[in-house]
Amino acid sequence: MRKLRVFSKIFAPICVSALLLTGFNGSLAAASTVVNPPIAEEKATLVTIYLKDKKSLDKLVNEGFDLVEHVHEQNGKLEIDAVVTDRELQQLKEKGYQVETVTTQEQVQNILIQRQQKVEEEAKLTAAADEIKILRANYFESQKETFLYIEAKSNAGTVASVILNASWKEKGTSQTATLQKVEDAGAYLYHSLLIPVEKVPNEVTVTSNQGGKTAKKVTEWVGGGKPDKRNKHYVSDFVDHYMNPTEVTDRIEALAKEFPKLAEVVEMPNKTNGYRRKAQNIAGKKENHSSIVISSKAWGHEGGNDVMIELAKPSEKGAPLKVTVDGSKVNVSLATDESGQAISTGNQVKEAINQTAGSLVTASKAYQSTGNGVIAPQTVKLTDSLNAPATVSRDPFAMKALRIGKQRDGSKLGVLAYSQEHAREWVTPLVSVETAERLLRNYATDKGTRNLVDNLDIFIVPTVNPDGGHYSFYDYNMQRKNMTNYCEGTEYGDPSIRNSWGVDLNRNHEIGSVYDGYSGASTSCTSGSFAGPEEVSEPEAKNLIWLADQNANIKFAMNIHSYGGYFMWPPGAYKAEGRETLPRPTAGQEAYFWAASNTILDEIKNHRGTVILPSRTGPVPDVLYSAAGNSADALWYKKGIYAWDFEVGADLYDAATGKWQPVGFQPEFKEGHEEAMEFSNGLIGMLKVANDYQKDKKAPASKLVKKKATNGFEVEFTTSEPATVYYTLDGSRPTFQSPTINLRGIRETDGEKLSITRSTVINWFSMDASGNIEKNYHPDTNPKKYNSEVIKIK
Ligand SMILES: [Zn+2]
Repeated sequence: MRKLRVFSKIFAPICVSALLLTGFNGSLAAASTVVNPPIAEEKATLVTIYLKDKKSLDKLVNEGFDLVEHVHEQNGKLEIDAVVTDRELQQLKEKGYQVETVTTQEQVQNILIQRQQKVEEEAKLTAAADEIKILRANYFESQKETFLYIEAKSNAGTVASVILNASWKEKGTSQTATLQKVEDAGAYLYHSLLIPVEKVPNEVTVTSNQGGKTAKKVTEWVGGGKPDKRNKHYVSDFVDHYMNPTEVTDRIEALAKEFPKLAEVVEMPNKTNGYRRKAQNIAGKKENHSSIVISSKAWGHEGGNDVMIELAKPSEKGAPLKVTVDGSKVNVSLATDESGQAISTGNQVKEAINQTAGSLVTASKAYQSTGNGVIAPQTVKLTDSLNAPATVSRDPFAMKALRIGKQRDGSKLGVLAYSQEHAREWVTPLVSVETAERLLRNYATDKGTRNLVDNLDIFIVPTVNPDGGHYSFYDYNMQRKNMTNYCEGTEYGDPSIRNSWGVDLNRNHEIGSVYDGYSGASTSCTSGSFAGPEEVSEPEAKNLIWLADQNANIKFAMNIHSYGGYFMWPPGAYKAEGRETLPRPTAGQEAYFWAASNTILDEIKNHRGTVILPSRTGPVPDVLYSAAGNSADALWYKKGIYAWDFEVGADLYDAATGKWQPVGFQPEFKEGHEEAMEFSNGLIGMLKVANDYQKDKKAPASKLVKKKATNGFEVEFTTSEPATVYYTLDGSRPTFQSPTINLRGIRETDGEKLSITRSTVINWFSMDASGNIEKNYHPDTNPKKYNSEVIKIK
């Protein structure tokens, strides 16, 4: 009953405003004989009132306020929500109550305005039958099961009540299923369906409850290409356990030594901050707010671990607080009162230590402790809490790349593969090591391998996050970030929070970063996706960019992560506001990304039949989520490198339950090994794509296709291979600065159509991914033979 009253109180006046908004004010305004305006009613606000105790609550109840049935006890205070008029609010404040606003009437009015806009937008979109486009109708066999995958888009798809259904014939009987709507950051992307089938249908039809309908032939996803037949002597399978960063680095050094003609180690200039920590501990107790954090000035392994703090109560009454240092021991003699009780608080001890023992240790605030409680006598030993054996160095780590190629002088096309930006992704360094081994050990006998090693300049970085990697193996398996502690000196520097320190190395880069307003990273030092104190603050991120800067021949890159079974490319980030992505590749570049994925995904499938799903193939934000400041975007937008991402470890299909099972970051080695084998295949697939790119000397050809439209023509271009079309509409010569044909929409592969409404000269040329230009035209050096067509409109 009370609830009802609450709602009517909030909403009743607002309904009137809503009516006014929708046009009823017209008739009111027409009545010109109004003398007195209507009396304004009292406004109401939903507030939280903070109370000391139950007694003051009873008092408030007796005073007759409109209390909501919601009493909550928090931080030793009672909280109750109430609906109050401005007059009542004033009264509450005068009586000394602490009051905070939950919702004002104006806010609710805005919610109603938004609601009204959505209703009107829906009415417009659903006024006619919708247009449906089937983006993909594919089948594939994965893990001994056959699947049908459909991706479709409706132009009214943003409306929740628009439902798309697919139908097809299977062994003569009709099947139907409803597609799932896929949205991200409030934007509609598409509808999709993934379903096991007994027999692959020839065609699927998608209909909408709005009346739209369209059909598409079903084609095979992945498996159409023919992976190279390998020489019967082809050797593989060089990893038999998860390897920590020290081991993988030793392994590539050994390979360089064994194959001096084909490989060398490249040491990167920025050493990491090291698998090391300051020694720390807590003195005092959180319960009585006496706790403080004590940290060594020296690294744990450089003396910090030997530091002890002894807080003792002297027998003397009325003694002052006194700190002395004796070698690596800090003696704190606590102050006592007249009866001989210790009376020093945590904060007093903190200040005394910083004053006298500041060269040995730092005392700071503990998490959720005011430090105002009296601290008890105790002995505290500091420790860096690091558990790796002595074989793991505590010094800054020299990151290394293995450079493989017969000619390693920059004259051949460069390809970069790098793994373990995220420490816990244990399978990923195995992909790198396995690939390096295969390239070097098959060189002598396998023609395909020789072709790659002779013609490419391959850089493999098996671990981008060695410190975090070691930490993940020996201390905290879920470690994602590096080990740099940017919480030092704040209460989050408390050693109980140590597993949350570090920088996310795939968020620390400078393109589309959180500092530029992009979504998917954090500026908080404890966040799982902490971007660092500024762009490219970390040595590991600097090294990656250094490698690309030093070797301008690098045109392809693969950023290897786990898990989920994804194959992705830029853009990798968007601004949350309006889901505005970094510039999308042109239609031609996008077509090239898709074409390359055929080769790469076929190679992955070739190992044990794992198919990377079409719904997990594509630009990062369309299939995963926004990742502000990731490294692939830095390589693509800054360096023009075709920069892909792998997420190794595709879900496993359980035919008995019909469910997909995620594999996790650290599956049983048997599974991790299979993932390493299949994605090493994929990486070699990328090397083949790169080699084809290098060999491609054939220029594309293009054609202009025009179709009559209501007020002129619709023009689109077709190209003989994936190629970017540069065009002008003002009669001028097309250049690389001219507009390009871009994608028609998210997840679409067709180029946009140009709408021509008056007589126009269209000049254009096309260029493929390898830089070959149609008819040998070049805007700067051979500016004659571009295409030209006149569209006449009367
Ligand atoms: Zn990752």
